[in-house]
Amino acid sequence: MRLETIAVRACAEVDPTTGAVAPPLYLSTTFEHGPASQAIHGFMYIREKNPTQLRLEGALAQLEGGLGALVYSSGMAAGAAVLQTLEPGSHVIFSDDLYIDFRNLIRDFLPAWRIESSVVNMQDIQELKGAMRANTKVVWGETPSNPLMKVLDIAAIATATHDAGAHLVIDSTFATPVLQRPLSLGADIVLHSTTKYCGGHSDVQGGCLVVKKREILDKLFHVRELLGAVASPFNSWMILRGLRSLPCRMERHSANAAAVAAALAASPLVEAVYYPGLASHPGHDIARRQMKGYGGMLSFLVRGGREETLRVASRVKIFLNATSLGGVESLMEHRASSEGKMSKAPQNLLRLSIGLEHPDDLIEDLMQALA
Ligand SMILES: *Cc1c(COP(=O)(O)O)cnc(C)c1O
Repeated sequence: MRLETIAVRACAEVDPTTGAVAPPLYLSTTFEHGPASQAIHGFMYIREKNPTQLRLEGALAQLEGGLGALVYSSGMAAGAAVLQTLEPGSHVIFSDDLYIDFRNLIRDFLPAWRIESSVVNMQDIQELKGAMRANTKVVWGETPSNPLMKVLDIAAIATATHDAGAHLVIDSTFATPVLQRPLSLGADIVLHSTTKYCGGHSDVQGGCLVVKKREILDKLFHVRELLGAVASPFNSWMILRGLRSLPCRMERHSANAAAVAAALAASPLVEAVYYPGLASHPGHDIARRQMKGYGGMLSFLVRGGREETLRVASRVKIFLNATSLGGVESLMEHRASSEGKMSKAPQNLLRLSIGLEHPDDLIEDLMQALA
């Protein structure tokens, strides 16, 4: 089956007892077992697994081409779970344009967990190779990245990672399972904040990991069961609902973002546009090879400083000033303000999550705000 069909039909079996076409939402925390705790129906307790969550995990695994998937209460919980599988004394290498709260997690938790970390520019494979240590267990790349939209060569990084005996994690949140399939390019674990495009309507939080190897899946399952960051049945149900229209939405998000990026790039009031779909983007050739579309996220630099940039943000009428991304509504955010002390975002950078409105309305809104 093709991706669009998988998105609609994966784990969409009609409910055998009622014929319901939409999947049932099972809220039960506990399931009947035998007198000596023998499993009868395949389920025991909600923290381990539940039927609604299993449907979502099955669909995500099929979309990413993985052996299995695990869903979490948030994208952060999914990412933390990977680090919680590591022994003290392990070393992790992160890509440099990294989601801000992973940067905060490195600073606030990894030292106490005795996990060493390095942050490198993974667009330079030699720099990545140079950072490898005997105890390097995980290489963690985010592509396209937040907020600079850097594109990493997943296949090349996977080769370097495996040569060093480590596992590769790719945070593919911006790309979604529709535009990029990191497992097929050599990654061992794919991470998504499903709060974003997978949910798609700014109304549900979640995260997931999709993996290729049984051994990694088992370790992650153990961590999730004991540390408890599992997705709730309702959130699982909502994200599964979002997945059904994901390929369709990503087409429109990508087309709209391409139109907005081109309009911004043509404006003399804009210093630079970061969108992998622009031929001028340094990662364009890699993106064209490893992605099926360029997605709905872009950032741009206003010609001017912090003040001029905040003025643009205060003048938009259709765009909402809000964090997060991947919903139907277009959002704008001054990342230097929202990221705080650890931010490396330029003061004149605005990040856009391009929604499903008509692109001409979005472009007109940006042009009047810039004028
Ligand atoms: C939002 C986001 C996360 C964190 O996900 P939450 O669901 O907010 O915990 C991780 N990585 C990227 C790229 C994100 O955009």
